[in-house]
Amino acid sequence: MLLECDPSKLRIETIGVEKPNFPMDIGEMYEGERIRRPDMQVEFGGVDVPKKWEIVLTRKPEEIEDGRVILIGPDLNELKQGGTYPLGILVEVAGEKVEKDLEGVLERRIHYFLNYIEGVMHLNQRYDIWIRIGKKVYQKGLNSLAWLGKALIWLYKQSFPVIEKIQVSLTTDQQTIEKFYPYALEVWAARDKRARELKDEDVEEFYGCVMCQSFAPTHMCVITPNRIASCGSISWFDARAASKVDPKGPNFPIPKGECIDPIKGIYTGVNEIISKKSLGSIKQVALYTSFETPHTSCGCFEGIAFYIPEVDGIAIVHRDFKGPTVNGLTFSNMAEHTSGGTQNPGFNGIAIEYLRSPKFLQADGGWERIVWIPKAIKDRVGDSIPQHMKDLIPTEQEVKNIEELKSWLKSKNHPVVKRWKQVAEEKAPEVRKEAFVEAAPAELVPATVVPEGLSVPIGGGFIIIFKNAKIVAEKVIIKRAEKVGK
Ligand code: SF4
Repeated sequence: MLLECDPSKLRIETIGVEKPNFPMDIGEMYEGERIRRPDMQVEFGGVDVPKKWEIVLTRKPEEIEDGRVILIGPDLNELKQGGTYPLGILVEVAGEKVEKDLEGVLERRIHYFLNYIEGVMHLNQRYDIWIRIGKKVYQKGLNSLAWLGKALIWLYKQSFPVIEKIQVSLTTDQQTIEKFYPYALEVWAARDKRARELKDEDVEEFYGCVMCQSFAPTHMCVITPNRIASCGSISWFDARAASKVDPKGPNFPIPKGECIDPIKGIYTGVNEIISKKSLGSIKQVALYTSFETPHTSCGCFEGIAFYIPEVDGIAIVHRDFKGPTVNGLTFSNMAEHTSGGTQNPGFNGIAIEYLRSPKFLQADGGWERIVWIPKAIKDRVGDSIPQHMKDLIPTEQEVKNIEELKSWLKSKNHPVVKRWKQVAEEKAPEVRKEAFVEAAPAELVPATVVPEGLSVPIGGGFIIIFKNAKIVAEKVIIKRAEKVGK
């Protein structure tokens, strides 16, 4: 499907593949830059915009024009300062070696490339995007979305020589965004479905991704057929294709080695590589459990599987869930304890597609341990919930707090109820309990994750990375250094 729109809304078409004379700076040192509401010119997407998307599709060379930027709908300089708007970004690529399998990985690069732009903050992926443009960079000249299109074209061409042709469309037009949305969902569903046909036991290698190490320096996603990346955008097939075309890039094979625990999903090959990539910070990762040594999370996860000690069960929340969950904490409250590339037993950053995996938290009891899930997610993955569990797992519509949850689980004879007696006698799973009492007031918590692996650009292409550091200062005084000899 091509992006269709009312021709009267077609704003600009620009052709060119040479490096444009950008009004803003572009470079890796801008990754991790945060733009707070008072500093933003406008924002696109986020929780208040129901339909937004970014997608990469492969095309035949004759279907696209190299270096073309298409804008549909009002441009940046026509949008009210401080406003929130919908956005769709379609990147179309062609080339002899550009396989369909590469779409997912190329799509994930939109996040990184837009974050390379001075004064631009990009979060999340697929149907979940949230972008802010800063006031300063707007005043500097980034006053048209065409600059984002040109930057994407230039960065893709620099990073992926296999891309022979590339065309970028950006639309702020609600009608165009809504019309294309169902098609984008179909594309993502087909990508995810393909990966579902394989099992972890069927392959010799898993794949790693360290694309998010600029945000979370010790984090590495382990991508297996049964555990899609936490951001939900890179499947085992995608990572395999990416590692072939860009062997020095962020995706690489992980020989499985020996499987030392098939239930928890512990492999010697994974442990060896995570140990190297995290510079010794993480020694072991268990792929199919939320406890002990769970998979780390950077900050880009689509959802969180969180432990509720009062009922010895696990609940799920997704990024777009508004307000407090059943334990009284919001997604943002819990994301603080989940992100940063550390292992946080009881808090597991996951992709929603992982809920469909036959190995979904299998060491913890899988679906029989799930005690609460948002309705939107229950509807979305309903066909993957075992039949006998469907009516036993409540949503926010039936259960709003822990007391109601306890009564519900008891009345339905949910499988966790059997565990209650056992747990009273045994030791409860080790989790970061402080997370249940430490929730910061909602107004102090940003609406998304700010990972602890903070990177600060200091110019000249260098970045200082603070690993797991928390810095508190009541006052910062900056003084001009006196010149020597003065
Ligand atoms: S969340 Fe994981 S797979 Fe996705 S880009 Fe980050 S490191 Fe890669």
